[in-house]
Amino acid sequence: LTSKLPSVGTTIFTRMSALAAEKGAINLSQGFPDFPPDARLLERASQAILTGNNQYSPMTGLPILREAIANLIARHYDRKVSALDEITVTSGASEAIFDAIAALVHHGDEVILFDPAYDLYEPAVTLAGGICKRVTLAAPEFRPDWQAFSELLTDKTRLVLINTPHNPTGTCWKAEDLESLWQAVASRDIYVLSDEVYEFIHFGESAVSIHKHSELSKRSLVVSSFGKSFHLTGWKVGYIVAPAALTAELRKVHQFVSFCTATPLQQALAEHLLALPEASAGLASFYQRKRDVLRDALANSRFQLLPCEGTYFQLLDYSQISDLDDVAFCEWLVDQAGVAAIPVSVFYQQAPDNQRIIRLCFAKEEGTLLDAAKRLSQL
Ligand code: PMP
Ligand code: GLN
Repeated sequence: LTSKLPSVGTTIFTRMSALAAEKGAINLSQGFPDFPPDARLLERASQAILTGNNQYSPMTGLPILREAIANLIARHYDRKVSALDEITVTSGASEAIFDAIAALVHHGDEVILFDPAYDLYEPAVTLAGGICKRVTLAAPEFRPDWQAFSELLTDKTRLVLINTPHNPTGTCWKAEDLESLWQAVASRDIYVLSDEVYEFIHFGESAVSIHKHSELSKRSLVVSSFGKSFHLTGWKVGYIVAPAALTAELRKVHQFVSFCTATPLQQALAEHLLALPEASAGLASFYQRKRDVLRDALANSRFQLLPCEGTYFQLLDYSQISDLDDVAFCEWLVDQAGVAAIPVSVFYQQAPDNQRIIRLCFAKEEGTLLDAAKRLSQL
């Protein structure tokens, strides 16, 4: 068998969560909440199943859910999008990203990513026959270098993949970054795939979004996830917003990858958004408190805390504690401290040699965060 993805193994999330379970460690590795979602949403999902919403939905998503999403985007971003031909509901943001790349990237096309990048982007590009080129984001600020970006553009560049708020670094782009991106791509035939799954989890001024950029939005696909916004990572319901011509291409793939997303879950989310249109409004302050609990509890440890402006991930520099590389350090940490974390080098094509940084997920009960911080502070 000749593998199509020879350098890909099992994801770090699967490996670290399994290790945490095996060793009974506190699991701050894979990003998911350890607290329940809103009980009303669970009740709506049960009712949706019991009242017969159990067959295929329309391929593009339930109309009432697409309407609710259009309303959310209008209210939050002041952008008008068509529920009919610009919004597609997908089985998580993952499916949306995969479909978009499969639909747009031709064999030999170049795709620009920022290094470090979420782990599913590059394999999706490789399977489509594309070639990834990466712009390095340097610790501790992880700011994009727009000169370096421009130098990577060629006639073969088809797509730029961006992600803000950013996993794994917890940094957020500024409005001028979108402007620089626009200036660099304006005269070229390039699309933008914007992964905005942490759109409601940002701790400064409001997060920048392609939805608010009138030019970029005309050639972009913007991805969201109800998993992040409603503490439901296991439901795998997301959506992707793009101009009609791009959406038509995306749907050609989506109809054969999944056809549609779990109908009762779509029904429950639609009813929830209709009943509570501001449901995601408090998410940033909810997570900011958790971030601060974790940061305060680690303030006197030997870890150095990197800035965290968004997402539910906090980066820690452990160079005062160990010389191990980050993968080895995370394995050591499970054994020595009983805490599971994610090594940040796995998100890089080319991780800096002496970088000693791990990622912790703070989408956890405060008690969990305090227990973990206590263990980490003893190192
Ligand atoms: N993009 C990023 C940056 C993510 O962190 C995640 C989830 N961890 C996804 C995409 C995938 O989201 P979903 O679970 O909705 O497929
Ligand atoms: N996105 C989550 C994270 O960054 C993990 C998702 C997954 O396990 N596939 O931790």
